[in-house]
Amino acid sequence: MAGSDENIVIVGAGIAGLGAALALGRPGRRITLLDQDPPPPEGEADEVFRDWNHRGVAQLRHSHAFLARLHNLLRTRYPALVEDLRAAGVREITFRDGLPHTLRDSYVPTPEDDDLTILTSRRTTMEMVIRRWVQANAAVTIETGVKVEGLTHIEGSSPVQVTGVTVVRTTAEGVAQRDTVAADVVIDASGRRSIFPRWLRELGAEITEESSDAGILYYTRHYRLNAGQIEPERGVVPGAGDLGYLKYGVFPADNGCFSITLAVPTPEADLRRLMTRAEVFQQVCMTLPGLVPWVNEERSEATSDVFGMGGLRNRYNHFVKDGVPAALNFFAVGDAFLFTNPLYGRGCSQGILHSHLLADVLDTVTDPRERMLQYAALTAKELRPFYDSGVQQDKSAIRRAEAAMAVVPRRLRLKARLMKSFTEDAIVPASRGDLGVLRALSRGFHMLEPPALAFRRLDVLLPILRFWLMGKARKAPFYTPRMGPERHEMRNLLGLA
Ligand SMILES: Cc1cc2nc3c(=O)[nH]c(=O)nc-3n(C[C@H](O)[C@H](O)[C@H](O)COP(=O)(O)OP(=O)(O)OC[C@H]3O[C@@H](n4cnc5c(N)ncnc54)[C@H](O)[C@@H]3O)c2cc1C
Repeated sequence: MAGSDENIVIVGAGIAGLGAALALGRPGRRITLLDQDPPPPEGEADEVFRDWNHRGVAQLRHSHAFLARLHNLLRTRYPALVEDLRAAGVREITFRDGLPHTLRDSYVPTPEDDDLTILTSRRTTMEMVIRRWVQANAAVTIETGVKVEGLTHIEGSSPVQVTGVTVVRTTAEGVAQRDTVAADVVIDASGRRSIFPRWLRELGAEITEESSDAGILYYTRHYRLNAGQIEPERGVVPGAGDLGYLKYGVFPADNGCFSITLAVPTPEADLRRLMTRAEVFQQVCMTLPGLVPWVNEERSEATSDVFGMGGLRNRYNHFVKDGVPAALNFFAVGDAFLFTNPLYGRGCSQGILHSHLLADVLDTVTDPRERMLQYAALTAKELRPFYDSGVQQDKSAIRRAEAAMAVVPRRLRLKARLMKSFTEDAIVPASRGDLGVLRALSRGFHMLEPPALAFRRLDVLLPILRFWLMGKARKAPFYTPRMGPERHEMRNLLGLA
C-alpha cells in the first residue's frame, strides 16, 4: 500500500477530519488531528449536546440528518461503529418508515430498499460517537486547543510543496505558544471558513472558487418528547415541506429528542427578523399541519432557544487548473473543498465519503502530483453532480420565492410554465403514487447515484409522464395536501400584513 508509513496532519476534527482519520488510520501511519476547540465532555449524548463548546462548527446545534449513502458506507466498513451509534441512540429510519401515506398500503419491499436507510440524531451525538471511535485507534492522536495559523512549504516550490503547518497552542495558564508541525501530507478539514486557499494563493497557487447564494436562512429549535409520549405516526401531511415563502422540516433525533427547522428565503426580510423569537417560531409551527402533532404541548417541550444561521452558500474550490495542481502534499476535504445548501442534508455524508475518496488515492498512489490530479478528478466525478443539482435547485427556489413576493403576479415564460407543471403535476404526484419513481428519486437524493440519472431511465420517466398526462381529478389524491397557510395568511397572522 502507498504511503503506509506517512505522517499525516489533519486540520480540523469535525466530521470530515474524523472521516479522514477513520479512512486513513492504520498501523504504520501517524495521523494527528489538530483542532482549535476543546473535546466533547466525557458524558452521554445529552450532556455533550448541552455543554460541548465546539465553536468552530457554527451549525453544531442545527438540525442534521445523515443520508443513506453514509449509512451504507459505515455499515459496510465499520459495522462495530454502527453498533456504537445505535447504543448512543442514533436511529435508523428505513425507506418504509418514510413512505407517504399514499404508498403505505401498496408497499412491497425489495432488497434495494435496504440501501435507503438513513441515520438520524443530534449532530453532537453523531460526532461524539465517531470521535470516540477514532480516538481509540492507536494510529491517531487528537490534539485540542490548537489553532492552525499558517502552513510551511519548500521555499520557491511551484506548485507549492507543503511540508506542515504552524500552530498556536494555548496553555492552561492562557499563554500562547507558537510551534511548527511537520507532515508528509496536510489535510485541510477546517470547514467552510478554511483559510488555506488564501494562504496558498499568497504563495502563488491558483485556486479558483465557484460560489452562489443558497437563498435561505436557517432557524432551528430543539424539543424533547414528554414522558410517556412517542413520536407521532406519519400523517397525511408530511413532516417536511415547502410553502415557497417558508420551508419546514422535523428531524427525529436520539434519546427522545427531535428538532424543527424553518428555512426562510433571504428576500423575506421581515419574516426572517421575527423568526428567532421563540413564541413566533412556535406560532408558525402550530399553523403547519405536518408539525402540529410534534410540537403541541401534550407531545413535547422545547429544550432550546431558536438558533438562526445565515450566510448560507454553495461553494466549490478548484485545486487543479489546466492539469496543474495548486499545491502538493495538500488536500482539502469536506466543506473546505465544497459545500451546498444545508437543506439537502448532504454535508456530513459528503465529508465522510470525500475523505474515503482521498484515502483511496493516498493508499494507491505515491506521486504527489498524480495524487492531487486523481483526487480532484474523483471529487468531480463522485460529488460534482450533487453540487450542480443543488445549485440548480437553489436557483429555481430563489426564483419561486421572489415570484411569491411580487406585488403584480409574474407571467412565466412557456419553458418555465412547462417546468413548473412537470414538477408539480408530474414528478410530485408520481413520487407519491408510484413506488418505483419514489425509489429512484430517493437514490439520487441519498447520493447513491447522480440525481439526474433517474430521469434517464425509462422505467422512471414513463410513470412520471403517465402522471403528467393523467386528468387532475384522477391524480388528485397524489398531490401533496395543503401544507400550511398561504403567504398572505401567515403574514396576517404574524402582524406583517
Ligand atoms: C445550518 C446547517 C445545517 C446543516 N445540516 C446538515 C444536515 O442535515 N446533514 C448533513 O449531512 N450536513 C448538514 N450540514 C452540513 C454539515 O454541517 C457540514 O457539511 C459538515 O459539518 C462539514 O464537516 P467538516 O468537517 O468539513 O467541517 P466542520 O464540521 O465545520 O469542522 C471543521 C473543524 O475544523 C476546526 N477548525 C477550523 N479552523 C481551524 C484552525 N485554524 N485550526 C484548528 N482547527 C480548526 C473547527 O474547530 C472544526 O472542528 C449543515 C450545515 C449547516 C450550516
